[in-house]
Amino acid sequence: MNITEHGEKELKKCSLIVSVYNEEASLEKFFEACSSVYERIGGEYNLELLFVDDGSVDKSPLILDQIAAEHPDWVRVIHFSRNFGHEAAMTAGLDYAGGDFLIFMDADLQHSPELIPDMLKKYREGFQVVSMVRTKNSSAGLIKNISSAAFYWILNHLSPLHFEANASDFFGISAEVQAVLKKYYREKVRYLRGYVQSVGFRKTTIEYEAGVRQGGKSHYSIRKLLVFSKNTLLSFSNLPLRLGIFASACSMFLGVLLLLYTLFTRKGAPSGYATIVVLLCFMFAVLFFVVGIIGEYISLLFEEIKDRPIYIVSETKNLEKRDRKGME
Ligand code: UDP
Ligand code: MG
Repeated sequence: MNITEHGEKELKKCSLIVSVYNEEASLEKFFEACSSVYERIGGEYNLELLFVDDGSVDKSPLILDQIAAEHPDWVRVIHFSRNFGHEAAMTAGLDYAGGDFLIFMDADLQHSPELIPDMLKKYREGFQVVSMVRTKNSSAGLIKNISSAAFYWILNHLSPLHFEANASDFFGISAEVQAVLKKYYREKVRYLRGYVQSVGFRKTTIEYEAGVRQGGKSHYSIRKLLVFSKNTLLSFSNLPLRLGIFASACSMFLGVLLLLYTLFTRKGAPSGYATIVVLLCFMFAVLFFVVGIIGEYISLLFEEIKDRPIYIVSETKNLEKRDRKGME
């Protein structure tokens, strides 16, 4: 705690960044939980609650505006012009939050606000990145759990960096980490949780049990998760691009074997229509797969080169221009 020149206690500021997309069923409960944390830590920290409304089409924007109007001293709202996705919503939080420590969390109470004091304790101990690691995800089904384990296995094998398998979009970072992420990690196809884990700094983890979603339903369908996983794998590794070289080495090896077999045995290569067609189909499949992977990388490049905004803000509540660090 610092003392200002007027002799007042200057509290450290903590920003809670909450992504909201059609969460009318849980918002009030969530705010209640945050209010009790506000009362608990109010003496030690200046809490700022920053809701990012990711183009919700239910009553969430109205509920958020009402909360903001009733609590102008600590609640702020950013409304997007349309739905840009969870990653974009977290990025807006990263850009706008003015705290010394930033905590990212979901609005459905799967990330319990009650854990905030524990995270702040780690911050006080000097940690700059606090990752919340799930011990049990009660609401995720078996398919989601298995595919998530497979995703991390592949990611950790493809990428030189290490990613914690059960890390979630519930984490805390200090203002120094925020500055680095804000300035240098401006990719359009994003994975903020991955950047947080790979950026370095003094890190620690806290284990927690992910709760059950309070009302509404998950926005991540299996299809969305697959696209997200594919983009993440491609943007954290260029190994798939080398697959072509590996495939060409394999087919060269096969060719040489066949050549030697033909030259040194009297029988010659196995003949017949079927052999040739099967071999051709197999080779073309490998070839098209490699071309497809190159296509995926080009599409990622295209997204980056277009340089369109990650999100568009249509309106803000209780945010003054000076709060919008780096936005104007
Ligand atoms: N979310 C968002 N934009 C979207 C989808 C989700 O801001 O396009 C928010 C959502 O309101 C929630 C968080 O991101 O607070 C996580 O989403 P969800 O609970 O659907 O994901 P799950 O917990 O099932 O992985
Ligand atoms: Mg959820």
